[in-house]
Amino acid sequence: MAEHVLDLSTRFIDSGRVDGPPNRVSHELSELADDVALVEAFSHVVVIRTDEGLIAFDSSGPASGTRVLESLRGWNKERIHTLIYTHGHIDHVGGSSAIAAEAEQSRHELPRVIGHENLPRRLNRYRATNGYNKVINARQFGGLPVSALGGSAGERPFVPDGTLDITVEYDQIMTTSVGGVELELHHAMGETDDHTWTWLPQHKMISAGDQFIWNFPNCGNPQKVQRYPLEWANSLREMMATDVELFVPAHGLPISGHKRILSCLEIVASTLEQLVEDVVSAMNSGATLNDIVSSVEVNPELLDLPYLRPLYDEPEFVIRNIWRLYGGWWDGKPSHLKPAADAVFATEISELAGGVPALAERARHLADAGQFRVACHLIDMASDAAPEAKDVHEIRASIYLDRRAAESSLMAKGIFESAANESRQAAGQLIESRRRALSFEE
Ligand SMILES: [Zn+2]
Repeated sequence: MAEHVLDLSTRFIDSGRVDGPPNRVSHELSELADDVALVEAFSHVVVIRTDEGLIAFDSSGPASGTRVLESLRGWNKERIHTLIYTHGHIDHVGGSSAIAAEAEQSRHELPRVIGHENLPRRLNRYRATNGYNKVINARQFGGLPVSALGGSAGERPFVPDGTLDITVEYDQIMTTSVGGVELELHHAMGETDDHTWTWLPQHKMISAGDQFIWNFPNCGNPQKVQRYPLEWANSLREMMATDVELFVPAHGLPISGHKRILSCLEIVASTLEQLVEDVVSAMNSGATLNDIVSSVEVNPELLDLPYLRPLYDEPEFVIRNIWRLYGGWWDGKPSHLKPAADAVFATEISELAGGVPALAERARHLADAGQFRVACHLIDMASDAAPEAKDVHEIRASIYLDRRAAESSLMAKGIFESAANESRQAAGQLIESRRRALSFEE
């Protein structure tokens, strides 16, 4: 028999070793306690059975909503009375059209949909930046260049048609009950500005959304809007003040046992707090962003913990996000305030270097020596100075593919692969289109 999901998480946490992926996209349902079930998916759905029908946390994404419902219906057939969005990311709200379609088919009332008051604003922003969101997700998850999407950035809207809007919004805290099950909803800032974590006293359970993802916190995403590390840590500390015995995040494994849950939350909270303290104190001493990126780091032992590995986001990106939150967009380097056009600067440097081929060769040489950071500066300059040169693009593609292989985070891998594909295309090579299996946030 397969190991129960709670036993798996206990083993991973207690041993500190992981022998399988904590983020599973099986679409399988596990009962976590009486009347509490979890369907693991590309963002999970957590369900509570009550005398009045089901409470669901999230709807999963557009591609998985229907499959999640199928699994759920193998466990319970009652109507979904209340749907709570943990936040407005598409992999959490985008499956709701499947819930709506099912309700219509079985002539049930649509669920009451609860979310934080910032959530509708987020969906409006996604609609206003539809093309941008499709571009960045193609890069982040598929390693595709912008050109692969075509001028319209794809046909399907980023926020799927039929996504259920919230019908009840709240500000700080909201209490409600369904069929005798009490819910205490708390607003949190962290990965987003519209997070809800929920305390269910009868089950001694917390639904945490993405405030815990079994990866280093998604608090620095280079292509997305501001994240809030200290507020994130505060929300984890609020969760720690409950009698929690069952902790269910929207990605990764649920965790059982009060002490075990508290130790995980404490470590994630203090890691974020320490990072903010280190960055802000360097800012206070007048350091530039580049100084800070090259000097501040998270204790590498923490990054080995089963739930803190930098496989999705990574500390370096969080450092930049902290700079943006507490400072301005300027990085402190005078020449970066009003920089030259890339092509102008690159042409100047390549002439000094003895021509574009010399620059490209040097870049390849540095990459071979593992010095990818400086190698990528040089090869970008070479291709900026000679954008039509196929041989330069071939070298650029090879350097970015090698760099991709040397990175740990999906975000860095995706962006570097996208750069490699951009150059493969410019060199007249075929590129593969694929979507990675390990992808969390839409
Ligand atoms: Zn998510």
